[in-house]
Amino acid sequence: MQAAQVAVRTETQPLAPKPLEAAQRQLADSAERLGLDAGSRAMLARPRREMTVSVPLRRDDGSLALYTGHRVQHNLSRGPGKGGIRFSPSVNLDEVRALAMWMTWKCALVDIPYGGAKGGVTIDPSKHSDGEIERVTRRYASELAEFIGPERDIPAPDIGTDERVMAWVMDTISTNRGFTVPGAATGKPLALGGSRGRRAATSIGVTLIALKALESRDLAPEDCTAAVQGFGKVGAGAAHLLHEAGVRVVAVSDQAGAVYDEQGLDIDAVRAHATATGSVVGYSGAEELAGDALLELDVDLLVPCAVEGVIDTGNADAIRASIVVEGANGPTTPEADTILNDQGVMVVPDILANSGGVIVSYFEWVQAVQAYWWSAAQVEERLNERLLMTWDEVCTRADDDGLTLREAATDMAVARVADAHELRGLYP
Ligand code: NAD
Repeated sequence: MQAAQVAVRTETQPLAPKPLEAAQRQLADSAERLGLDAGSRAMLARPRREMTVSVPLRRDDGSLALYTGHRVQHNLSRGPGKGGIRFSPSVNLDEVRALAMWMTWKCALVDIPYGGAKGGVTIDPSKHSDGEIERVTRRYASELAEFIGPERDIPAPDIGTDERVMAWVMDTISTNRGFTVPGAATGKPLALGGSRGRRAATSIGVTLIALKALESRDLAPEDCTAAVQGFGKVGAGAAHLLHEAGVRVVAVSDQAGAVYDEQGLDIDAVRAHATATGSVVGYSGAEELAGDALLELDVDLLVPCAVEGVIDTGNADAIRASIVVEGANGPTTPEADTILNDQGVMVVPDILANSGGVIVSYFEWVQAVQAYWWSAAQVEERLNERLLMTWDEVCTRADDDGLTLREAATDMAVARVADAHELRGLYP
């Protein structure tokens, strides 16, 4: 037998923003406003459980490659961990810690009975076959199997993962247990107990909240323009739904660059082009822009749906949109957030704006544990109800306490988690 060739893969890219610093700072500011004691602050600042695992992969050519995976369960006081799995070259433990903390606040804000978690593998999925991605997923899920499950921690899709990956996670956990565990992951295919409405839920939520934000500023959708950064699961769906709602979507982008048409893009045609070629770039009938230039366009609505830290001190001054709706997690650094607020820009925070995904993931989990399926109309009605209720609560809190929407949302969420922790008490 031939000795296996082993390559240690990092596939890392430089990570400009520091999402963990941003998440910690938001928590510290909120804890200060809420007057939390030092013990509660320390507990909320530190993850409950962190796991880093090696993920060896037998490549299609027979060689062996080695990747690193993480899963962070930030807080479990209100229920099992909940959060996506990211496959990206920029995944690192600090990023996963930040994303897990934001999941804790998001689940608490929309009042679903979960803590917060997140996971990821430092790998570029575009450089691997479907078979390799399946093997990486199964090995990663298998390494973490003891800590994943409907009562422990429930993964979902994020950057670089999709419903096929969730099917493999569910199947791996089920095979480990010896029986089918449909509640072990959400964002699964419909045929495996996925929920109607889950695929589009994050984009539906982003759009609904964006329309509420426009309404709050007396702006009619048909009089407004928008730019959407990121054309993946969240961004492409949000661009499509905003376009359907009458908003003129003048620019969209992905990692390769941006396309712009001041008359408004035909989003379905851009989508067809991106599906066929792998990128929005090259779409005929639109001007090409550098990706970052999209953020500074003179539009009413800016919807970042890509990665963390894209709006920072380097470009916050140049943002001309009057409303920023955070489809991505952590796209605005705390310093940039201050600059935008000083400029009178309304920033609708991620934990509210993109919560549609986790809300319908919760519905999927409820359906799985009850072995009972809801209609698309039931899912949509309950999603809208919860989102609109949370929007109203956050706006009221912001008005009452003289806070930004992010401060109000974070305070509501942090207080709920701190209360749950206090009520449970310490063991032993
Ligand atoms: P995805 O992998 O489906 O798409 C990501 C998109 O962003 C791709 O089009 C990619 O090319 C683009 N991109 C990456 N870097 C970019 C850059 N610097 N500039 C412009 N475009 C860039 O991922 P997704 O699931 O759509 O997630 C996007 C964001 O939304 C992430 O922050 C994720 O955490 C957040 N989010 C996702 C969900 C969900 O249900 N998928 C739910 C809540 C929040």
